[in-house]
Amino acid sequence: MEWKVKYQKHTKPAYSDLLDFFEPEIRALFASFDNEMQNRFKVHNKYHKFSNVHGWTYGYGRNYNCELLTVIVSSKYFEVLGVSVVNPETLNNALCEAETKYKNGFEQYCADVSAKRRENQIERSKKRVEREKAQMDELTESIDPDKLNKFKWAKKVSRNDLLKLYQSDAKGLLDEELLDEVGFTFYIRCKQAKEVRELMEKGRMLCLQCGEILQAQSYTAPVKCKCGYIYTYREYRRSCNAINMPGGRATPIFDDYMKKWLDSKTASQKMTVIDWLIHECHVTLMSGVRGRSVCVNLIEGTIKQISDLKLKLAYGS
Ligand SMILES: [Zn+2]
Repeated sequence: MEWKVKYQKHTKPAYSDLLDFFEPEIRALFASFDNEMQNRFKVHNKYHKFSNVHGWTYGYGRNYNCELLTVIVSSKYFEVLGVSVVNPETLNNALCEAETKYKNGFEQYCADVSAKRRENQIERSKKRVEREKAQMDELTESIDPDKLNKFKWAKKVSRNDLLKLYQSDAKGLLDEELLDEVGFTFYIRCKQAKEVRELMEKGRMLCLQCGEILQAQSYTAPVKCKCGYIYTYREYRRSCNAINMPGGRATPIFDDYMKKWLDSKTASQKMTVIDWLIHECHVTLMSGVRGRSVCVNLIEGTIKQISDLKLKLAYGS
């Protein structure tokens, strides 16, 4: 059966089908031919094409469609550059034709195609870099630096306020206004920390200006809130940790405090809750367990300053 009848357009033959198709002596000639192509001209049988005239043909070439010649298949021979190969002599003729074509600038042609490809690639990379730079410029241009990553975290309690509160209590003249302010400041800080940390786990951010919840698109992409403020997730998270927002292993203490504070009705109850929290601060401070220094999450100052304050409050052993 004729090659082009046996393997029609939609039945692309495997390489083994091609070898099987040839009579043994033609197959041997084709094997020599294939060998010469690879060794002498460094071209490979890699471009299978279908034509209505010849059926499936085999192009020998290099990368980027740099083709030296095409092999046409027939039942009694294979054809190369107009030469029908049927015996060693015609094989030699075909190889001479290939040699002539090769010497007629094939290497230069391949080099030119490769160079052109590389040039295109460089051009494409250059364009991509330019495009990304333009996008970044546009992004930063449209961002008002006064609105970018402005973190307004719920404040800590001042050491002075705590001291004044304890002093008023010691004198039997509890400053109830200050009591509410201190207790509420602790409460708001714990509450915001809880909310923010839970949102951050899901890649979200609480707008610290208007309370809107924002979804981060990536670690560094700016997210604009409808109120006009803009945050990047990475800086948001860094700031939250740097400012010692409550969290980590002491979380149960903060949760307890929030519940206890809301349950307190009288001044005496409120003072007891605050005192309980200060005691927890003291415990975690003394235990020296990292990640449990509750005091720095809630009270202004360094651990040393807060520790000194504790002594003034006549607290501890
Ligand atoms: Zn907002």
